[in-house]
Amino acid sequence: MKPHAGEIESVIFDLDGVIYRGAELREGVLDVLKELRAWNINFHFLTNTSVKTTRQIQQKLSNFGLDVPLSSVTTSSEVAAHYLKRELGQGYLVLTAGGSEGLSEELANVDMRQVQLETIGDDELVKIASRSEECCLLTAWSDRFDYQVVSNILYLSESVEGVFSTDDDREFASGDRNLPGTAWINGAVQRILLKKPLGLGKPHPFSVDYVLNKMDSLPDKTIMIGDNIESDIAAGQAANLLTCLVLGGATTNEELCALPKHLHPDFIISELLELLPILETRNTD
Ligand SMILES: [Mg+2]
Repeated sequence: MKPHAGEIESVIFDLDGVIYRGAELREGVLDVLKELRAWNINFHFLTNTSVKTTRQIQQKLSNFGLDVPLSSVTTSSEVAAHYLKRELGQGYLVLTAGGSEGLSEELANVDMRQVQLETIGDDELVKIASRSEECCLLTAWSDRFDYQVVSNILYLSESVEGVFSTDDDREFASGDRNLPGTAWINGAVQRILLKKPLGLGKPHPFSVDYVLNKMDSLPDKTIMIGDNIESDIAAGQAANLLTCLVLGGATTNEELCALPKHLHPDFIISELLELLPILETRNTD
């Protein structure tokens, strides 16, 4: 059963489009987080970003005057690495297409072996294709995905047992425009391999379970705040959390209007400060 707003003990925030938009902090963020601390409400940041390391995100938040522990930030790379370790076991070979430092760091943290399909040499390609060892493919966002990478994926297709992605976001908010998300890579991979990459970040239920575990929080005490209906709000709904959509990010009014009623978030706000009255009943308990 979903919680009442007054029973909320934990908040999971998306980052891009909610806390900041590109290089700009969104209005009211510092006031809201100060108030949550005063009310003793836990908060955590769960982003489908796979490019940055958690430390780089922590530093970006700190530059905005927002100091949070490293353990309060989770990327889709971290979620994906832990999912693959759980499902495939430590030391399993992960072929990656896209992604960068953030992905490599998280795979190394859980002792998965990574081979990057952007830089793989012909000898290694042949070696992997010719040995019987199983491997999986993991895609992540990149603006440098190209024909050579897709050719490498096709060449190794017989060796690839599972096809995963850090996320399958169609777009993300950046500066004054939205940019194509990891779906632009996943679309090409799906067409070539005839297998749809399984997105492991939001809205996959593992991403929310993973964060609830890290926070030591329960679904019925937690609210998910995001700007993306397809990832943030869907993830919260799948995990039976209360959900709150922040307008002015990845979701337009038109997209919201076209959404079937049962998929609507519990709350819709234009600015983060509007979250406080929603949670206020708790403060007056
Ligand atoms: Mg977002």
